[in-house]
Amino acid sequence: MLNYKDLYSVLSKYSSFIVTCHVNPDADAIGSEMAIVGILEQLGKEYFVINTSDTPYNLEFLDYNNCIETFTSENHGHIFDKVEVAIFLDLNFLNRTVRMQEMFKQFSGFKICIDHHTNPENFADLNFIDETKSSTGEIIFDFIESIDSLKFTNQIALAVYAAIMTDTGSFRFSKTTPELHSKISKLLSYGLKPEKIYDMIYGQYEFSRVKLLGEALHTIKLTDSGKVSYMVVTQESLKISGGIESDVDGFVNFALTSRGVEIGILFFELKDGVKISFRSKEKIPVNKLAKEFGGGGHVNASGTRLFNISLNEIMPKVLKAADKLLI
Ligand code: 5GP
Ligand code: MN
Repeated sequence: MLNYKDLYSVLSKYSSFIVTCHVNPDADAIGSEMAIVGILEQLGKEYFVINTSDTPYNLEFLDYNNCIETFTSENHGHIFDKVEVAIFLDLNFLNRTVRMQEMFKQFSGFKICIDHHTNPENFADLNFIDETKSSTGEIIFDFIESIDSLKFTNQIALAVYAAIMTDTGSFRFSKTTPELHSKISKLLSYGLKPEKIYDMIYGQYEFSRVKLLGEALHTIKLTDSGKVSYMVVTQESLKISGGIESDVDGFVNFALTSRGVEIGILFFELKDGVKISFRSKEKIPVNKLAKEFGGGGHVNASGTRLFNISLNEIMPKVLKAADKLLI
């Protein structure tokens, strides 16, 4: 059980905070940051929200006061020297902060990790990790609920709702329980419009993203077992479609939509390596697969990022390992 009073005492005790989240942030990462921002504002604290990646354009609406900045050592280096606490959201390995990890290794302040992934690295001074929760946003919901002096506002409710909605696949993954729906019921009472929020996140993409999805779907194949379906996004397909890196988020789910397929994989060629996303059905632990290749994640959704390696080199190895996992 998480001891929310401990977290509250740390937030109360210190006065300045860096808030950050994982590379390629999703709505759980950005929503959790903005919910923490709401809490820090209620407590009258100084805060800096600094991420290794830009905020994807479809999530910018969550950053209501435009406080999220993309890290550069020139602009943000000095902040690490003066701030007392760093809060890490929706990640449990420091290397998920990619370009910022060296700064955090040298950071001498207090570190708090709030997350719901398995196998944490335990790099923080205070770990708030509960892998039974649907999302980091849900942990922050529970935190606010358990501390009398913290209040939901419309802004916090929106941030937490977006976090939970997206990390539960719009309320359908296995951690969507009656208790979770009661939490959502409370959030909706702050005047949220589910249809509008869904449309902001999933219905306002640039047309180029849909073109890129077409390119990706064009590459879809099955392995010999017929149970693993995989797609490839190359730098060339980004060029052809005009799509951008963050557009690829969510594509992997299409690999899991045909009968008999148990594992879906997306290989994404980056400028300096390859990002691999794994998805699975039911009890198939694709986080084991991701771990084999230096990554991690959840039982049904995991990934890894490999540097200085080509698609040709890595794909056969990963596909072989995926088929083996199903034997
Ligand atoms: P996605 O495929 O959507 O980028 O990531 C799905 C999940 O896989 C994430 O929520 C995260 O838990 C995990 N994941 C993705 N990439 C990495 C990675 O490079 N390292 C680790 N440890 N986990 C990752
Ligand atoms: Mn999450």
